[in-house]
Amino acid sequence: MKQLEERILQDGHVLGENILKVDSFLTHQVDFQLMKEIGQTFAEYFQSAGITKVVTIEASGIAPAIYTAEALNVPMIFAKKAKNITMLDGILTAEVYSFTKQVTSTVSIASKFLNNRDRVLIVDDFLANGQAAKGLVDIIQQAGAEVEGIGIVIEKSFQDGRTLLEKAGQKVVSLARIEHFENGKVVFKEADL
Ligand code: 5GP
Repeated sequence: MKQLEERILQDGHVLGENILKVDSFLTHQVDFQLMKEIGQTFAEYFQSAGITKVVTIEASGIAPAIYTAEALNVPMIFAKKAKNITMLDGILTAEVYSFTKQVTSTVSIASKFLNNRDRVLIVDDFLANGQAAKGLVDIIQQAGAEVEGIGIVIEKSFQDGRTLLEKAGQKVVSLARIEHFENGKVVFKEADL
């Protein structure tokens, strides 16, 4: 997605070896026009997949996921990271290890929001080592639902996420694919859309 790549080059900041900061348009302040374009791009690609729900993980997946859900005219569900006292019964959970934060957290979705007739599109802001997406796949499969694809806004292709997910039989579609960082600059490889 050309518009997204241009925005990353313009406003993204490379931090250290492998982190890209995009807090001015995606992970903190949100550019809704760009998110709308992102949502429409995913929706067009998955138009004929019979998607019934879009699933993401809080917090930064929510913005691209909600516009994707709007374009597909289906509900969006975000997995919660914190334990919630109003959500004690009927929850589906998975353990997600974060390499960036070096902690394992339990993510959850109320089981009443997913069923075995659902065809789910996962959307997330970043794909690094694939642990967040793998946790979501796990939760969706616990509900007996089908994962139709995984839509990623920014994939860091030099990390293992895509390989892990594809080996598990999942289809990964990324709007921007970062091949590597060079002297603090982003170098892209060809994106999927
Ligand atoms: P994974 O589970 O694929 O290793 O990491 C995915 C999650 O880690 C994303 O949802 C995102 O929140 C965070 N993340 C991973 N790499 C980056 C990065 O380079 N920049 C930012 N802002 N978040 C990242």
